Amino acid sequence: MKDNQLLRYSRHILLPEIEYEGQEKILNSHCLVIGAGGLGSPVSIYLASSGIGKITICDFDDVDISNLQRQILHNDKSIGTNKAFSARKFLNKINSETTIIPINKKLNIDGMTKIAKNVDVIIDCSDNFKTRYALNKIAFNLKKPLVSGAAIKFDGQISVFDFRKSTSPCYECLFPDSKSEVELRCADHGVFSPLVGIIGSTQAAEAIKIILDLGDSLMSRLLLLNSKDMTWKDIKITKDKSCKVCSG
Ligand SMILES: [Zn+2]
Repeated sequence: MKDNQLLRYSRHILLPEIEYEGQEKILNSHCLVIGAGGLGSPVSIYLASSGIGKITICDFDDVDISNLQRQILHNDKSIGTNKAFSARKFLNKINSETTIIPINKKLNIDGMTKIAKNVDVIIDCSDNFKTRYALNKIAFNLKKPLVSGAAIKFDGQISVFDFRKSTSPCYECLFPDSKSEVELRCADHGVFSPLVGIIGSTQAAEAIKIILDLGDSLMSRLLLLNSKDMTWKDIKITKDKSCKVCSG
């Protein structure tokens, strides 16, 4: 670490749980963020400011004026531009030492697997079931940790599927893919702006903890937030022995 890095990350280095070695681990790590929207904004901002060495951020969407209420990576000037590239612009200003790799294409399973193979943690900040189920399979096959988050209206949820461990349940254990699930979209139902900040910041915390092997993760747990009443539920989840992704 250079002198300016010792200063920049000094409040991490002061923590006995992180110290110099932990910050080095953060600097040498690579995170994959899927989605540069409401959740991907706080996730990537905290990862970059923490000094994560490399962030690959994927989003094929363009910034729309209706995104700006909560997608804090973007601003008036980014309207009409690709979200992944708009994210890189903002993140470069937060920390010029973090390498940001924007991906603006819609990827198939093979393309996503190729990218995910090289990362330490996958963070699902997508807004649809199709992507969530695909990322779950990819992370399971690659035995990578997956930090999953979702937010709609006033309700949010977070969990960690740590496929480095054979005991970890997966996303499908929790929500079996019935293909009939009704998708709730922010565009139709709305979403409370700070909710995505709370959920995304929690995802960033879990991702950095995984890199540091620090404390207890949300593996085998689902955190549910009702931000209207500000109540949290911490639910134990178990591996489904008949799960078609992670069992048998
Ligand atoms: Zn499973």
